[in-house]
Amino acid sequence: LPTRRVLMEDHTEKKGRVPIGVKGKRQKRIVVTGGAGFVGSHLVDRLMERGDSVIVVDNFFTGRKENVLHHMGNPNFELIRHDVVEPILLEVDQIYHLACPASPVHYKFNPVKTIKTNVVGTLNMLGLAKRVGARFLLTSTSEVYGDPLQHPQAETYWGNVNPIGVRSCYDEGKRTAETLAMDYHRGAGIEVRIARIFNTYGPRMCIDDGRVVSNFVAQALRKEPLTVYGDGKQTRSFQYVSDLVEGLMRLMEGEHVGPFNLGNPGEFTMLELAQVVQETIDPNAKIEFRPNTEDDPHKRKPDISRANELLGWQPSVSLREGLPLMVSDFRQRLFADSKLTAA
Ligand code: NAD
Ligand code: UDP
Ligand code: UDP
Repeated sequence: LPTRRVLMEDHTEKKGRVPIGVKGKRQKRIVVTGGAGFVGSHLVDRLMERGDSVIVVDNFFTGRKENVLHHMGNPNFELIRHDVVEPILLEVDQIYHLACPASPVHYKFNPVKTIKTNVVGTLNMLGLAKRVGARFLLTSTSEVYGDPLQHPQAETYWGNVNPIGVRSCYDEGKRTAETLAMDYHRGAGIEVRIARIFNTYGPRMCIDDGRVVSNFVAQALRKEPLTVYGDGKQTRSFQYVSDLVEGLMRLMEGEHVGPFNLGNPGEFTMLELAQVVQETIDPNAKIEFRPNTEDDPHKRKPDISRANELLGWQPSVSLREGLPLMVSDFRQRLFADSKLTAA
C-alpha cells in the first residue's frame, strides 16, 4: 500500500511564519491517534482550548465522530479516517498515541488486530516521530502489571502477565509498545513519554463496551440488574477522565520519560462500586452475580508517588463526584437512543 501523505495547510518550517495560538504562544501541531474515542476526545477538547492545531487519526473501530463533532469546521481541527497499522506521513510537533481498543470486550473481539494495532501501529507512530523529530506519548495501561503480586503497583514492578491468555493481545501488546518506545528513545534519540493508565471513566464512554462502570451505569438507568462478575470482591481504582487528561498533558510537556502510573488510588471492590452506583442512580437497583471472565486481575491500585513528585500531579475528582457527571451523559444518550428506536 502506498504511504499516505497529509500535509497540514498551515505547515511551514520558516521562522516568523509559524501560526500563533490564542494565548500568543507558538501554536503546536499535535496528532492524537484514537482521538475520536473516549479519552482521546476529552484530550482533544483541552488541546483545542489551548489553541493548538490538532489532527485526529482514527479508524472509528470504537470511536465516534460525534465525540469530536463540535470541532468540525474549526480551521485548527482536522479528522482523518486512518488505521494506524498502515504508515502515514504528517508534519507535527507532538504525537499522543492512544489508538487501541481499551475495553476487554472490544480488544478480545479481534485479538490479532489488537496486537497489530499495538505493535505495528506504535511502530508506525514512532517512525513518524523519528522522521519529523516529534515528541511521542504512549498511553500504556495498568494491565502491563497483569494479575499483580505487588500491591499497590509502583512503576518499578515488572508485572505478572500470562503471555498466552485471552487478555495477552492487549497487555503483552502494550508491553511491546513500551519496549518499542524505549528502543526508539535509546536508539534514535526520540523524546518519548509513557503513561500507564488505570481504569478511567466519564462521559462519552461507549455505552455497551462491557467495562464495569459503563455496564453498571447503563444497567441502573435501564432498570436492569447490575451484573457483578465472580464474587465481586476483586478491586479496581477508578479515575475520572479530566484527571487523566491533565496527567497526560503534564507528562507530554514535562521532562520525564516515565513510565508514570496515572490513576486514582481510591480502591473499590466491584460490590462497593455497585453500591455507589445504587446510591447515585437507583437505591432499588438489584445485583446479579455472573461467572467471572478468564485471567481477571484480583486487585489493582496505583502507587502514584512518582507522578506526584515529578509531574506535580494527583487526581482531584472522587468516584462519588465523578459518577454523576457520567450519569447525566449516559442518561441523555440512552434517552436519545430510545427516541430513535421509537421513531
Ligand atoms: P476507546 O476505545 O474509546 O478509544 C480508542 C480509540 O482508538 C477509538 O476511537 C478507536 O476507534 C481508535 N482505534 C482503535 N484501533 C485503531 C487503529 N488500528 N487505528 C486507528 N484508530 C484506532 O478507548 P479509551 O478508553 O479512550 O482508551 C484510549 C487509550 O487509553 C487506549 O490506548 C487504551 O489502551 C488506553 N487506556 C485506557 C484506559 C481506560 O480505562 N479508559 C485504561 C488504560 C489504558
Ligand atoms: N513511518 C510512518 N510515517 C513516517 C515515517 C515512518 O508511518 O512519517 C512508518 C514506516 O512506514 C515504518 C515505521 O514507521 O514502517 C518505522 O519507521 P522507521 O523509519 O523507524 O523504520 P524503517 O522504515 O527503517 O523500518
Ligand atoms: N465486571 C463486573 N461486571 C461487569 C463488568 C465487569 O463485575 O458488568 C468486573 C470485571 O470482572 C473486572 C472489573 O469489573 O473484575 C473491571 O472490569 P473492566 O472490564 O471494567 O476493566 P479491567 O478488567 O480491564 O480492569
